[in-house]
Amino acid sequence: MPSKSLPIFPGATLGILGGGQLGRMFTLTARTMGYKVMVLDPDAASPAGQMADVHVQADYTDLVALKKLGEACAAITTEFENVPAASLIELARHCRVAPAAAAVAIAQDRSHEKTWLADHGLATAPFALIRHETDLEAGLDKTGTPALLKVSRFGYDGKGQARVTSLDEACAAFRQFGNQPCVLEGFVKLDSEVSVVLARGDSGECTLFPVAENRHENGILSLSIVPARVPEPLAQQAREMARAIADKLDYVGVMAVEFFIAGGQLRVNEVAPRPHNSGHYTLDACVTDQFEQQVRALCGLPLGDPRLLSPVVMLNILGDRWHNDGPHWATLLAHPNIKLHLYGKHTARAGRKMGHCNVLDSDPERALLLAEQVRHGL
Ligand code: AMP
Repeated sequence: MPSKSLPIFPGATLGILGGGQLGRMFTLTARTMGYKVMVLDPDAASPAGQMADVHVQADYTDLVALKKLGEACAAITTEFENVPAASLIELARHCRVAPAAAAVAIAQDRSHEKTWLADHGLATAPFALIRHETDLEAGLDKTGTPALLKVSRFGYDGKGQARVTSLDEACAAFRQFGNQPCVLEGFVKLDSEVSVVLARGDSGECTLFPVAENRHENGILSLSIVPARVPEPLAQQAREMARAIADKLDYVGVMAVEFFIAGGQLRVNEVAPRPHNSGHYTLDACVTDQFEQQVRALCGLPLGDPRLLSPVVMLNILGDRWHNDGPHWATLLAHPNIKLHLYGKHTARAGRKMGHCNVLDSDPERALLLAEQVRHGL
């Protein structure tokens, strides 16, 4: 078995489960720092596979592939929460795995996640667990209407979610989701949404990135404004809650916590056991970005400085903007203070995240104005 001794220095091979854009940015950073990277993803054209030293093209449960990865890598992490916990446990027999399977397992199931948060005294939207259609009536009594029915597993970016205003609608949505376990959530009247991305090391040391204010459209993150335009005590409370979650999970790696702000109060929406879309601003606006923190935490290195160097607005570039030749890049590239990141995805679809850009400006309102102009001009 390869040594699990820390720290792991450049020259070693790091592994990542999942070859999407988060894996790609991890891979690019790790390679810049001198590590070799092995990516496991079944997709031949995965964004991270294109950048890796080795792309193992296989399913996440393929035992031969997992063994290959475990034997070659000094440490392995994941870029998405839906990786089977059993695969992480299998890999941990061979090498260091962070975050641990137990933390990923909580975040990959909305029912577990919501129950865990409530058990640990963390405020969420009112919710009820739905196992059977017959749970819906009592559930709606608890949440009120309108409510959101969300599948417990494999939902993302607003997928696997339905807004319901009556028992009939809730039953229809539950059936449409194939009677799978769901969470019913009261619809919260949002003042705004914020998130905190943090990194935590083996001995509990923790660095937090500045709070991001997030705007969603159709359940998909549209842009993040940093610093968030919320009162400082609320931002501080968000950081403290995120840190408390990481501590209680004894989390090692990069983690994000999304919050709703409603009636001036914070409620936890979701925990992501990985770098997060709302942390992409760190790539150009912080001393250390979230992917370098991921490498550092994984390798047992001291964490980097998360300090913000400039106000920034991160704008997602979705497949909706793709025409025959792609978006109108000239609009975006004309600005010297906009940094473009594309993910190497070959096919564009509505709602698919193709890339993002960071707009840097000493005046955050000017950055927001420019981001909005660019979005309309693409
Ligand atoms: P989710 O995938 O659960 O994070 O939901 C995506 C987005 O949908 C959130 O960021 C919110 O903008 C919106 N949303 C989700 N749940 C609720 C809720 N209970 N009340 C109000 N808006 C919600």
